[in-house]
Amino acid sequence: MTDTATDVYARLGVQRVINAAGRMTMLGGTHLSDDVAAAMAEAGRGYVRLDELKRRAGELIARFAGAEAGCVTTGAAAGIAQMAAACVVGDDPIAVELLPDVAHEKRDVLVQIGHMVSFGAPVAQMIRLGGGRAVSVGWANGVRPEHLRGAIGPNTAAFLYVQSHHTVHHGMLSLATCLEICHERGVPVIVDAAAEEDPRAIVAMGADAVTYSGGKAFGGPTSGLIAGRAAIVKGCVAQERGIARPMKVGKETIVGLLLALENYAARDDVAAKNEFARQERLVGAIVDGVAGLPGIHGRVIHDEAGRAIVRASIDVEPIDGRSAAGLAKFLTEGAVAIFPRGHHADEGYIAIDPRPIEQRDVGLIVSRVRAYVGR
Ligand SMILES: *Cc1c(COP(=O)(O)O)cnc(C)c1O
Repeated sequence: MTDTATDVYARLGVQRVINAAGRMTMLGGTHLSDDVAAAMAEAGRGYVRLDELKRRAGELIARFAGAEAGCVTTGAAAGIAQMAAACVVGDDPIAVELLPDVAHEKRDVLVQIGHMVSFGAPVAQMIRLGGGRAVSVGWANGVRPEHLRGAIGPNTAAFLYVQSHHTVHHGMLSLATCLEICHERGVPVIVDAAAEEDPRAIVAMGADAVTYSGGKAFGGPTSGLIAGRAAIVKGCVAQERGIARPMKVGKETIVGLLLALENYAARDDVAAKNEFARQERLVGAIVDGVAGLPGIHGRVIHDEAGRAIVRASIDVEPIDGRSAAGLAKFLTEGAVAIFPRGHHADEGYIAIDPRPIEQRDVGLIVSRVRAYVGR
């Protein structure tokens, strides 16, 4: 984030935040690269036929994901609602205007019970918004293929698979199994892959449509996309005259998203190595900065999911009432609020994620950790 961005928030009297947690919607998602921010400003100053821009965006998104067709959305949440609507009513203009009411019964959207999650809002509610009836499949401690086969009936409009760390993984059916069972019965499979990094994998496996957030892995503005079979994407776009109207995407956002996707597709090994080296520098500086503090131990840890991310772990010994959770809370309470990753606070450590921070943030983070132990 540049100083100008910080000034904009300060002028509104809104507190500056250092995001050391990773990609967090509640802290503003990602920060835009300079070229994406500049393209959005330029797009905002001009006029364009929005339909033409959206059509072109659809073509570029299709290419990005290796799909037949694509479209822009406000996010993956809107993507779920629009994909569900496309499976329930297609692109019939009268039915589109009637949503979320539906004049027929074929509107069940099946979801494995471990995927009936809330990502900040319930997946099931997004399905209802699109006219679907969210029907859970299987049991919390296990879903078997026969549960899914048995759940498919004349009222089944679609099956939704959620690919995410938010879901239960143990005991759920794999996407490959769900695709096989659903496609045997002609049931379309739609996928919420909001934060996934590979934009082509799910389409390549044969999913009928998939939605991603633009502002998570791909580093774009707050936005999203749908990619998939042409007939379903057509149904998703048709919702712009109905439930998706309050999910309208502006020209600036479309332009910013498309440039972010282009940059993401063009990222190469050199860029990845540079980013990893940058992370190692920042993490090393934090570990060095807290070295020797009483009851505090800094170390470098690797991403649990095996991605190319290193983080600074700060272990807090329980001396004088100190704890990892106490440190996490203390960091958020300074003049500049610092948000670390707190998932492992119960195990005695917090982590600093270097992806969203800059060199100038390191000194502030270290001095706040020192302040916590009175140094
Ligand atoms: C973030 C997220 C969403 C919502 O995505 P937005 O782009 O913020 O609308 C939906 N599903 C999952 C699994 C998510 O992680």
